[in-house]
Amino acid sequence: MEHSLPQKIFAKISSPSQFAIDVAIILLLSTITFWLAQKYDAFEYLVEFSRAHEEYEIDEILTLLMIASFAFAAVAYRNGSRLKLEVLKRRKVQQSMKKMAFYDSLTGLPNRELCINRFEHILNQSARTSESAAVLFIDLDNFKEVNDNYGHDAGDILLKQFSERLLGQLRKGDTLSRFAGDEFIILLESVGSINNVTILAKKILDCIQTPFQINANETTVGMSVGIAMYPNDGQEASVLLKHADTAMYHAKNEGKNTFRFYSNELNKQARNKLIIANQLRQAINSDEFTLHFQPIIDVISKKVKGAEALLRWESKVLGNVPPDVFIPIAEEVGIINTIGEWVLLQACQQSKHWHNLGYNDFIMSVNMSAKQLGREDFINVVESCLKKSELPAEFLELELTETTIMKDVSSALCRLEKLRKLGVSIALDDFGTGYSSISYLRKLQISRIKIDRSFIQHIPENKEDIAITKAIISLARNLSLNVTAEGIETAAQQKFIDNTIVDSAQGYFIGKPMLPSKFESLFFKDKDSY
Ligand SMILES: [Mg+2]
Repeated sequence: MEHSLPQKIFAKISSPSQFAIDVAIILLLSTITFWLAQKYDAFEYLVEFSRAHEEYEIDEILTLLMIASFAFAAVAYRNGSRLKLEVLKRRKVQQSMKKMAFYDSLTGLPNRELCINRFEHILNQSARTSESAAVLFIDLDNFKEVNDNYGHDAGDILLKQFSERLLGQLRKGDTLSRFAGDEFIILLESVGSINNVTILAKKILDCIQTPFQINANETTVGMSVGIAMYPNDGQEASVLLKHADTAMYHAKNEGKNTFRFYSNELNKQARNKLIIANQLRQAINSDEFTLHFQPIIDVISKKVKGAEALLRWESKVLGNVPPDVFIPIAEEVGIINTIGEWVLLQACQQSKHWHNLGYNDFIMSVNMSAKQLGREDFINVVESCLKKSELPAEFLELELTETTIMKDVSSALCRLEKLRKLGVSIALDDFGTGYSSISYLRKLQISRIKIDRSFIQHIPENKEDIAITKAIISLARNLSLNVTAEGIETAAQQKFIDNTIVDSAQGYFIGKPMLPSKFESLFFKDKDSY
């Protein structure tokens, strides 16, 4: 395509793509020039000038002025474009300098400066919300060997892969930073209990067990992790980092490829938890669990109407471990479902056995944790245990605490509804100690509440506990719910309960949790006493 002369001229002084914009800008500048000329009466001045200097032709002067203003516009615009390019270039340089100042160029992770900055921000936030935070100081155990054996490039590849694996274990919002050389820092906010930190430390140690592929070679590395917790181990970022560093050195001295808390107390707790968790994993297969049964009697007839199944663990390594110690750990490490399923099946089978002996209205109560209620296939598990044991659903009662249900009310409501359809009844356990769920009492598909032992234990001396217990009983009865009083340990407590409208009772005064053989010998001597 042929270009006109003005187009060719413009094309020389500006880029072709900017042509239209260039023309528009130059026209605008020209218009302004003419407007200024008119405003300050430049024409009059020119006529005067022409009269005084007859040697000049007025049209020549005008042409010269036109060319001059055109050149002025072009130069101004050219310089404007250059200025714009220069500003963009400098801004880019500034951005990459900022990135270099706060991010590690090898791994792309936040560097020491940004890490400290973020840690201070996390600590300020934690102070406001009264939540705990943690810092994990990580050092590779034999990184020098990798550098010596395979070269520094291989070392760099390893650090990159290592950081990617660690990142894969973190929650959104956790910070991983490369602090220096082969030192990394993990910052955790809102960590909850130290168990969550223990689990993460274990997870990151596990994730580097698989060898790293570096060029043609496979290599494994270990790491030592030191942990400091806010607010217990310090309030300031520098102090907590120093303490995490100290803990990391303890981990190195104690055999490497492990983690240590700064606080000795936390170390002990974490170590015990890991030991218990490891032993728990093999407890079912090594037959270390047994079910004990605590009798529940009818308050009026004093006959046994059922029992609560209670899990006991006699570990071959640790001896007798109480349920309030091992159940929370089983929940944390995710084996509560396997254990819970075992308990449910054993309890159903035991109950079926007693039904077969002729005690065929015996009700078995089994405790359920929030984790169990929360699992997708919960109803299927209950159904399958009933099927395997051939126990009719109406003789199974599942005990749930208020806290368990309140964790996820809508899904709990839906599951309780399905259980009711199945024919299984629900008891609200430890009533009065969890959330106040009185407004939910009607909505929940429960048939019984169990008054917590803490209300019964100071009866009859404590008048307030008597008032609370009576109020709970009357509330439950008005809602047509059955009531069991837990923790009956004295004759006086039994007498108090006998004078209320509670229908059943349970406690050491009636019978401790016991093995099935003892249960049978005490309560199933003959059908009349049952
Ligand atoms: Mg219970």
